[in-house]
Amino acid sequence: MPELPEMENYRKMLTANILNIPISNVIINREKSINMPPADFTAGILDSKVIFIERRGKYLIFHLNNGRRLLLHLMLGGLIHLTRGDEERPSRTTQIEISFGDQVLYFIGLRLGYLHQLSAKETEEALSQLGPELLDRRMTKERFVDLMKKRRGSLKSLLVNQHAVAGIGNCYADEIAFHARIHPAAKVQSLSEEQLGQLYESVHHVLKEATEGGGYMEMPFTKDDTLTGQYNDQCKVYDREEEACVRCGTAIVRTEIAGRKAFFCPNCQHEE
Ligand SMILES: [Zn+2]
Repeated sequence: MPELPEMENYRKMLTANILNIPISNVIINREKSINMPPADFTAGILDSKVIFIERRGKYLIFHLNNGRRLLLHLMLGGLIHLTRGDEERPSRTTQIEISFGDQVLYFIGLRLGYLHQLSAKETEEALSQLGPELLDRRMTKERFVDLMKKRRGSLKSLLVNQHAVAGIGNCYADEIAFHARIHPAAKVQSLSEEQLGQLYESVHHVLKEATEGGGYMEMPFTKDDTLTGQYNDQCKVYDREEEACVRCGTAIVRTEIAGRKAFFCPNCQHEE
């Protein structure tokens, strides 16, 4: 599932390509991926322009110049892809296609994911339960440590809980715990002040590095895109069961924590 780095990578690439170009065509192949009859959806955005794209947690919000917003959540398996001119369309089934002049933005794998057209107020309501942004300047180490101290349960469950902190899923929760040398099953309430401080540093290090590395999604955003997905090779523990730990050589272990798969090094990550 795309997480903060993947969505931030998409946000940057979309921003570089589709801003201020009138939406010239809309094709809806799957009604369930949107939140209103296709004709209404199309009428609400046709001829308008995206003036700004914002990311919140794992969501992208497209701000249109007519005041409407498009809220995108890719959930499991969702992808986006942009073509120009006569470039070949993706071979996979698309659920939504939006044209910006000669560019077409394809939404792929939107089964659980969706693109909803909302007012500003509705967008705010849809995101009201979301926890704070981890890379926001206001999220200082002190604030982060205070936030963690109020929580109970395993580190893995806390990091992936979107009500607690927004944007992290299975992959980066494991990568962050590895970087911080904390066992993903460690109880948050038993972590020391020093460990929580380290966790803050690790959150920043891993999320920034993964964003700069293009995240781990499989498909390039455009034909010439060589960045998207490059971070997949740099993951240290996620989906690395039985591979050697890059720090100590011990075999990476796969376990389950509160119903989620988790990968860690049993030698360099500790519960206390
Ligand atoms: Zn290790």
